[in-house]
Amino acid sequence: MASPVVPSEVSNALEVLTRVFGYDSFRGSQQEIIDHLIGGGDALVLMPTGGGKSLCYQIPALVRDGVGVVISPLIALMQDQVDALQAVGVRAGFLNSTQDSYQRREVETAFVEGKLDLLYLAPERLKLDATMRLLDRGEVSLFAIDEAHCVAQWGHDFRPDYLELSALHERWPDVPRIALTATATDATRQEIATRLQLVEARHFVSSFDRPNIQYRIASKKEPKRQLLELLRSEHAGDAGIVYCLSRASVEKTADFLVENGIPALPYHAGLDSRTRARNQSRFLREDGLIMVATIAFGMGIDKPDVRFVVHLDLPKSVEGYYQETGRAGRDGLPSTAWLAYGLQDVVQQRRMIDTSEGDDAYRRRLGIHLDAMLALCETVECRRGQLLAYFGQPVDAGQACGNCDTCLTPPESWDGTVAAQKLLSAVYRLRRERGQKFGAGQIVDILLGKTTDKVRQHGHDSLTVFGKGTELKDLEWRGVVRQLLAQQLLGVEGDYGTLVLTDASSQVLFESRQVRLRREPERPARAARTSKPSKSKATIDLTPEATPVFEELRSWRGNAARELGLPAYVIFH
Ligand code: ADP
Ligand code: MG
Ligand code: ZN
Repeated sequence: MASPVVPSEVSNALEVLTRVFGYDSFRGSQQEIIDHLIGGGDALVLMPTGGGKSLCYQIPALVRDGVGVVISPLIALMQDQVDALQAVGVRAGFLNSTQDSYQRREVETAFVEGKLDLLYLAPERLKLDATMRLLDRGEVSLFAIDEAHCVAQWGHDFRPDYLELSALHERWPDVPRIALTATATDATRQEIATRLQLVEARHFVSSFDRPNIQYRIASKKEPKRQLLELLRSEHAGDAGIVYCLSRASVEKTADFLVENGIPALPYHAGLDSRTRARNQSRFLREDGLIMVATIAFGMGIDKPDVRFVVHLDLPKSVEGYYQETGRAGRDGLPSTAWLAYGLQDVVQQRRMIDTSEGDDAYRRRLGIHLDAMLALCETVECRRGQLLAYFGQPVDAGQACGNCDTCLTPPESWDGTVAAQKLLSAVYRLRRERGQKFGAGQIVDILLGKTTDKVRQHGHDSLTVFGKGTELKDLEWRGVVRQLLAQQLLGVEGDYGTLVLTDASSQVLFESRQVRLRREPERPARAARTSKPSKSKATIDLTPEATPVFEELRSWRGNAARELGLPAYVIFH
């Protein structure tokens, strides 16, 4: 526990808030965090984007003696942040690679002479001995580690330089530290705490709900056309961000919007730094501009009136999706998060994972992130409920938000309780009676009563569940598997994607918990029979490059891991 804060310091904090920053009151847990830090405690702060994390270290740095040292990966924004602080009379400076040695020396001198309140440091400076020697020569009031999820390899934004941060604590064990992030899964939080050796830090976890953002996930048909329609019908003249996966699609989409009379700028790491800086500052300063960008854009951007965030490609993780969509509506006014999701996204991302550098554990982790994202896309439940549950904030079942697409237009669903019970009991019996685990393919074959070689070889035709699921077709069973996984009523394990029961499975098996499943969309094959070829292509929603991959995967039955990983979610619609 932190030592109690003396009243004068508390009133100091409030005074600084009003006098320096011009705000009337603290938001959420800001005051508690600030008091804790002023009292010398360590803190781990999880607060959504736009929640007001900066003040949590800026005010203590002003109240405590010495200079608050802020580690931030947002080099491109440091100048802006420092300018904004200086404009309200805070003595702030930064050190990063964009400066010449003269500019650096000026900041260093100010630091040593105690003429700074806040010093922003780029993480790459931590590797330099000179930085450590510099910090020794001045007085540090606190270390603030902003965007702290960058230290977590489990997360989606890992920066190797952040690993150097543990050195700060070893060298200055008595200086209080505050780590801040808008990424909140338990896994990431634990990793941050471990890597930064924040053993005694108090955790401050704010609600991650952003009620003014309307979450919508649509099926991808002609994404650029769909985007245009959304902009024209709901967001004419609004500022917003459109995320694309590749630089090429960023360029094409920006051109497309401009050709259609909508002001848009591109942003991606392939543009030279001057163009990037210019586009970013135009987006921040002008009204009604649209930034079409890769995920290289957006961290730390503080533009209150971003009215929509669009994803034209599937994000790689729920954490990334949440953080990117969180850039909408920081002013609290109604905003839209709209994602177009199609089959080729899954094909493409699975491939990227399979061919990515790194070891198996790394690839598996990417796969788990992707699965969670797919589960969000597949849910028949409230999207917000699912998002918050992912971030460890369970909401009551059936408590719908009323401001997401599934709440506003509930998808057609059916009572899948009996089907779920059959499937789960097949998994259960295999385990109980035979001590075995299998992937989706074998389980479905058992339910359908197929006497394949593999079924005979394992004697699975003598199981009581054998042939008890003929009311659904093969593909429909795979849809059940996919959705049970998405609802975490079923789990998947290991390199071979074996199915396992979860804690919640027993509620379905033994406590008659109801399961609602989304009605499967029309099967591609059926669409092909009844409509023109060109139409059927649109229905299955594949790019020419993805088609052969799709065909290959569809005909492929061998490996249960693959069956579960890729096809189980989408391919076997
Ligand atoms: P985060 O880092 O959590 O994304 P910021 O610290 O950038 O959020 O703050 C987001 C916006 O909210 C900023 O414009 C900031 O000035 C404003 N803000 C923060 N705290 C308060 C407060 N107590 N009252 C009013 N506005 C605030
Ligand atoms: Mg911030
Ligand atoms: Zn909802």
